[in-house]
Amino acid sequence: MTITRVPLLDLQAQFQPIRDEVLAAITRVCDSQRFIMGPEVEALERELAVMLEVKHAIGVSSGTDALLVALMALGVGHGDEVITSTYSFFATAGCVSRLGARPVLVDIDPVTYNIDPARIEAAITPRTKAILPVHLYGLCADMDAILAIARRHKLPVIEDAAQAIGSRYHGKTAGSLGDAGCFSFFPSKNLGAFGDGGLVTSNDDDLAARIRLLRTHGASPEPSQGAQTPSDSAGGGAPAPLKVNPKYLHRVVGGNFRLDALQAAVLRVKAPHLAAWTEARRRNAARYVELFHALGLDGIVGLPTEPSGYHHIYNQFVIRVPDRDGLRRHLDAAGIGTEVYYPVPFHQQECFADLGYKPGAFPHAEAAARDTLALPIYGELTVEQQEYVVETIETFVTVKTGK
Ligand SMILES: *Cc1c(COP(=O)(O)O)cnc(C)c1O
Repeated sequence: MTITRVPLLDLQAQFQPIRDEVLAAITRVCDSQRFIMGPEVEALERELAVMLEVKHAIGVSSGTDALLVALMALGVGHGDEVITSTYSFFATAGCVSRLGARPVLVDIDPVTYNIDPARIEAAITPRTKAILPVHLYGLCADMDAILAIARRHKLPVIEDAAQAIGSRYHGKTAGSLGDAGCFSFFPSKNLGAFGDGGLVTSNDDDLAARIRLLRTHGASPEPSQGAQTPSDSAGGGAPAPLKVNPKYLHRVVGGNFRLDALQAAVLRVKAPHLAAWTEARRRNAARYVELFHALGLDGIVGLPTEPSGYHHIYNQFVIRVPDRDGLRRHLDAAGIGTEVYYPVPFHQQECFADLGYKPGAFPHAEAAARDTLALPIYGELTVEQQEYVVETIETFVTVKTGK
């Protein structure tokens, strides 16, 4: 069978084998009519805490809200600064700004695309409130170096692990390395819900408690049925005043950052498959490397790396080529889906013009924005599809380079 189409992502291929299980889980929630918090969310939190090897896993409404609520729990606000990479999905810096704080941007390491730890210390000021590294594409940032700087300056570290669920760094899981880890269940992430969802992980009891409180408008959630005490007025005499439901007592100003029970139920079906799906992505990544190597293209096409001690989960497989936009058009014409993550670094975004960064401020990020392209990497990709992708790239780059 000749290949004529390779989508960037094929969620149908992942869904069909688990369709019955997922529909049963959705039906279970429908039959319970419990859509907010409740047993599905609690069970998912327990299961993911085990899977991600953390003490606390807190379901939230999105990866963006995971970042927002984690930063709120650290007390980040007006006049504060948070140090982060200039090269990530918008939410990373957007959440800092939304809290009235300033994202202090740092260039990336050109090989890993993650924040360059060697440039962090120079960005620290008395206003620095936290460091927010991103584990971009599913590869952990260099956390030993980052945590050493953080400890020296007594700064908390929030991991943006939205692309890195199951990723490891020297044996430890993404999300367990810093003070808190923020995950996204956006459908195209490695563990995707059927809509928006997210998670905050932490090993810090106090921080986790603050995040839980902020998730429900700064109030303790309604006591679950069964935990409710019987009427207080049994003692006779004047009737005691009714106890105010704790969900209407707000200790701090939070938000509605809850994860839906329906999403939790879907995620509970999908989570046990994650390790196998990740292995399939890793196998595909290794196969791409072999194919590029076999055609002698690894000198022309920059390939992703997995430094020793790292476990990459390949949320994206990102290559680097001289005429990226030309290659992208060539692949598109051949029916091959690609994406650019990300075409404009934060310091060149219109909404961050007031931060005052000049073009050229972060040359490695600007080069990555110009030269990189994400190829299809999802687990169900076939050998034939991968061969087709690499051969189609070959026809472009060999013409370009006259190789
Ligand atoms: C996806 C993503 C987010 C935001 O997650 P949402 O669930 O879409 O809100 C944040 N940071 C990074 C690096 C992401 O890739």
